[in-house]
Amino acid sequence: MTISCDICVIGSGAIGKASALALAKAGFQVALVAPSLPAQSMAPLTDWDVRVFALNHVARTLLSSLKVWEAMDPTRIAAVDAMAIHGDAATRTGELGFDAYGARVDALAWIVEDANLNHALDAALRFATGVKLVQGAAVQMQRDADRAAVTLDSGQVIDCSLLIGADGAHSWVRTQADIGMDYRSYGQRAVVANFACERPHHGVASQWFLGADGIVALLPLPGERVSLVWSAPEPLAESLLREPPERLCARLQQLPGQALGEFTLLPPAVPQAFPLRLIRSTSLVADRVALLGDAAHVVHPMAGQGMNLGFADIDALLAALAQREHAADCGDTRTLARYARSRKEEVLLMQVATDGLHRLFSSELEPIKALRNLGMTAVDRLPFLKRRLMAHAFGRSLSSPTGEKS
Ligand SMILES: Cc1cc2nc3c(=O)[nH]c(=O)nc-3n(C[C@H](O)[C@H](O)[C@H](O)COP(=O)(O)OP(=O)(O)OC[C@H]3O[C@@H](n4cnc5c(N)ncnc54)[C@H](O)[C@@H]3O)c2cc1C
Repeated sequence: MTISCDICVIGSGAIGKASALALAKAGFQVALVAPSLPAQSMAPLTDWDVRVFALNHVARTLLSSLKVWEAMDPTRIAAVDAMAIHGDAATRTGELGFDAYGARVDALAWIVEDANLNHALDAALRFATGVKLVQGAAVQMQRDADRAAVTLDSGQVIDCSLLIGADGAHSWVRTQADIGMDYRSYGQRAVVANFACERPHHGVASQWFLGADGIVALLPLPGERVSLVWSAPEPLAESLLREPPERLCARLQQLPGQALGEFTLLPPAVPQAFPLRLIRSTSLVADRVALLGDAAHVVHPMAGQGMNLGFADIDALLAALAQREHAADCGDTRTLARYARSRKEEVLLMQVATDGLHRLFSSELEPIKALRNLGMTAVDRLPFLKRRLMAHAFGRSLSSPTGEKS
């Protein structure tokens, strides 16, 4: 049997699900291809999910418009009121801070568990009109000037005007559409785990640049809990995964300037790890194809921006579709080109910034170490530059005391 629709989304990560909901809300008939369908009834969330994301204002606004943000369990979301970034200088240079008060926003970002987000997305999909959930994996793609079609492993065919690849870093759609990519491994893995801490974090997300030992981020969770993302070189990541929990807790307790006291690993008391890499697609579009989320770009998680970029992709695609000429269908070449153009600058900026910071902070050369720490202190003292950085990182135009937008 063939399913005909306007748009077929391949990939059921958060970006695939959110894009299907958003496109259906915009009036398109959408098929969402997922390796497994969401369960009909959801088990309540219990343990704290070790996969958490710092979502920015762009993500929140989009998810709110889909009624997904409000459907998440609010008791499991922590607002980030401030960020404290520590360099690796022996002296007090190399400190950088941001706060919501200074930025005149209610929060810089929100820490959301993957399970909380996906529960809410799945619930929205169950009630969405205009989204057909199709179980399977895409195995074959065909395109001509007017249509695209994918065949699933079940033999089912989906015929559409636009095919969306939201199928993650190893995107099948990207390969089938002959879109090239640059791939570079960072030789690091992100080790993630959750902890109870002795003293309150006051909504502060802290980050330590530790030179050869990588980057440690402690993100606030509700209550006296924090979520660890340690971007560690391979051998250290291996040790962090193998060593007893007390040793990992002791390492966090020894971080310079940390004010949270003692740490206890929360269940499931097994840290997880994710390989870190930079992936640049040579294009975000091809004939009748658009890439979204990690299928389009993968960045180092130090700035907590990968998924936020994906939500901004969805916004940009919706805008390009809304501007298309009257007679054009949703896979029209000019519409896709407009989408690709509108994402070029932000994606490139984030790739260059995170990759550059990674190089800068992994150098062990003393002059570079001194310069990077001085640079952090200098940025801390330059309100205009700080505001520009915040606007990019937190996805919001922030107004200055004079009302000027940065
Ligand atoms: C340690 C770590 C911390 C991070 N922290 C943050 C953060 O704080 N903030 C932030 O914004 N981002 C963060 N990120 C980035 C974020 O995790 C990713 O950008 C995001 O999960 C990408 O979502 P996605 O939906 O594009 O891809 P994925 O989540 O990879 O989903 C892809 C989906 O496609 C499916 N699929 C694959 N192939 C096929 C096929 N042939 N047919 C059908 N389906 C297929 C897969 O099963 C999967 O469901 C972090 C990343 C890491 C590693």
